[in-house]
Amino acid sequence: MTSRNEILFERSQRLIPGGVNSPVRAFRSVGGTPVFFKRGQGAWLWDEEDRRYVDYVGSWGPMILGHAHPEVVAAVCAAAQEGLSFGAPTARELEMAECLTGLLPGLEEVRLVSSGTEATMSAIRLARGFTGRAKIVKFEGCYHGHADSLLVKAGSGALTFGQPSSAGVPPETAAHTLTLPYNDIDAVNRLFDQMGGEIACVIVEPIAGNMNLILPLPGFLETLRERCSAHGAVLIFDEVMTGFRVGLTGAQGLFGIQPDLTTLGKVIGGGLPVGAFGGRQEIMEQLAPNGPVYQAGTLSGNPVAVAAGLATLNRVQEPGFYDRLADTTARLMQGLTEAAHRHGVGFSAQSVGGMFGIYFSARPPASYGEAVACDRERFNRFFHAMLDAGVYLAPSAFEAGFVSAAHGEAELGHTLEAAERAFAALRE
Ligand code: PMP
Repeated sequence: MTSRNEILFERSQRLIPGGVNSPVRAFRSVGGTPVFFKRGQGAWLWDEEDRRYVDYVGSWGPMILGHAHPEVVAAVCAAAQEGLSFGAPTARELEMAECLTGLLPGLEEVRLVSSGTEATMSAIRLARGFTGRAKIVKFEGCYHGHADSLLVKAGSGALTFGQPSSAGVPPETAAHTLTLPYNDIDAVNRLFDQMGGEIACVIVEPIAGNMNLILPLPGFLETLRERCSAHGAVLIFDEVMTGFRVGLTGAQGLFGIQPDLTTLGKVIGGGLPVGAFGGRQEIMEQLAPNGPVYQAGTLSGNPVAVAAGLATLNRVQEPGFYDRLADTTARLMQGLTEAAHRHGVGFSAQSVGGMFGIYFSARPPASYGEAVACDRERFNRFFHAMLDAGVYLAPSAFEAGFVSAAHGEAELGHTLEAAERAFAALRE
């Protein structure tokens, strides 16, 4: 019998490229039919066939309080009653700016946008405008949204100019983007020695979450900070994923390293479209209307979206919020690892705050190369076994996972029971 998911996907594919509005949703990596969801509550999602799942995707990070949190929903409804968009300043945007600059060490000024992509794209333009330089540096396996200059992969050889990783990106654009291996301190030093004076900025995920979860090795972020300062390049921490996810002060607070610019998204919108970029006043003052770097948005600082973000940020500031979230996440990782080892499956896991990585390898990877060397086929089988048992993991071996404050003992128990059976089946 054809399921409702299959029918919906079949119809979607005729009208929406790949049947989805963002590629990873299409299940190409894991195979099978994507699940169409109709409802979420707390840690749970319900699909169109009324099957329920413990959710570890959390809309790819924003849903840190769980789905349809009553305070967030109430804030959204109240804001909507007062008007959906004005295209003019509101007190709520100021409140958001006060909240963000108050919590994140690197933020003196901040501007709101509507997505993570807009935030990184704007931060790059600002860094170029501020320095008057063209070259930007990124790291292999990091994702910073889909702006042209950031859809670039490494060329062959250590110090080559980048090549487009998407059709439609002119090679001339990609040539300004230099790509280095994540965590490779020597490569960073060599590049700065060779052309430090030409580099406008270095953009990095201070904890990488787009090639599974990869932690920065000791000294990596410190080297970026030192070399950028020494050469007048702007250091951008892309905290779209890590911001208010790994802790209240982001990865920058966790590691005690202050970037020049920070990009944000996901949690600060509480599930509605909000992004932000901010940093040192001297740099932010280059933005229009004060300075020559243009950047704008019809729906930037949208009142309903900002209300959702503020309600979320309000809640995460409760004492002990991140301790509890980190504890739940760590216990989940421990349970999964123990279950895997009971069944002789090569597996490891780690977490920071409410963000986690699970790896079908003996130890967590430290680079893109190590991440792609994990056993992808085993992940895919594990993913489907968990899905069948009502646990929704990211449909790719190369994504970080997310736990929300709504995940409790019942959800962990359900997940670990499913995992016990999934790992047992992997051994067979
Ligand atoms: N930067 C990082 C680190 C991200 O993880 C993402 C999205 N996953 C983006 C930027 C782009 O954000 P958005 O999808 O909201 O455009």
